[in-house]
Amino acid sequence: MANIILITGTPGVGKTTLARKLSQKSGFKLIELSHLVRKEELYTRFDRARKTYVVDEEKLRRRLEALSRSSEGIVLPTHLIGRFLPTSSVKLAFVLRLDPMVLYRRLRARGWTKRKSWENTEAEILDVSLHESRSLLGPRRVYEIDTTRKSAPAVYRAALRALSRGKTGRSGVVNWLARYDPLELERTL
Ligand code: ADP
Ligand code: MG
Repeated sequence: MANIILITGTPGVGKTTLARKLSQKSGFKLIELSHLVRKEELYTRFDRARKTYVVDEEKLRRRLEALSRSSEGIVLPTHLIGRFLPTSSVKLAFVLRLDPMVLYRRLRARGWTKRKSWENTEAEILDVSLHESRSLLGPRRVYEIDTTRKSAPAVYRAALRALSRGKTGRSGVVNWLARYDPLELERTL
């Protein structure tokens, strides 16, 4: 049964916050990908230059499939979308969105460099997570939530409403490009 709820979006939009709430209040099993990969050695090697493990996508996909079969429901926050996801086990993907200016400030407040914060802000403006989710899962399994000016509990309630309505996708709820010109924004930030 497809029981994985994917929570995706640009870093800083609130994926982990929503995933924890869904897990605590709705009983989904929370899977933290980087922990799982390290704990179960689902990597091919350690990349010294980048200081990260290189994920063994095939192994990780099979492991996630097995976890899906043995659980009632899984919530999986990830900003990466790729071959490591067992697509037929995914019930729905939430794509969290956040006003790029708010996002930029949030990433800077995390201590990220201007460059890294800007790169991610630009990805948010260009809908990268939305496009990747839609191309992997198809539009009907992708549900976009604009979190701008929504408290964490309000985001959680929006997600619950979508889940109780069943499989109906929703996208196109934001249009950052109509509000911000990336070149101009990069100069002002
Ligand atoms: P992600 O996992 O997408 O990187 P986090 O869940 O870690 O994002 O949230 C990033 C920061 O934003 C955290 O400091 C978190 O407390 C805060 N945050 C998350 N959701 C909201 C929200 N709805 N409103 C305001 N701040 C939020
Ligand atoms: Mg996170």
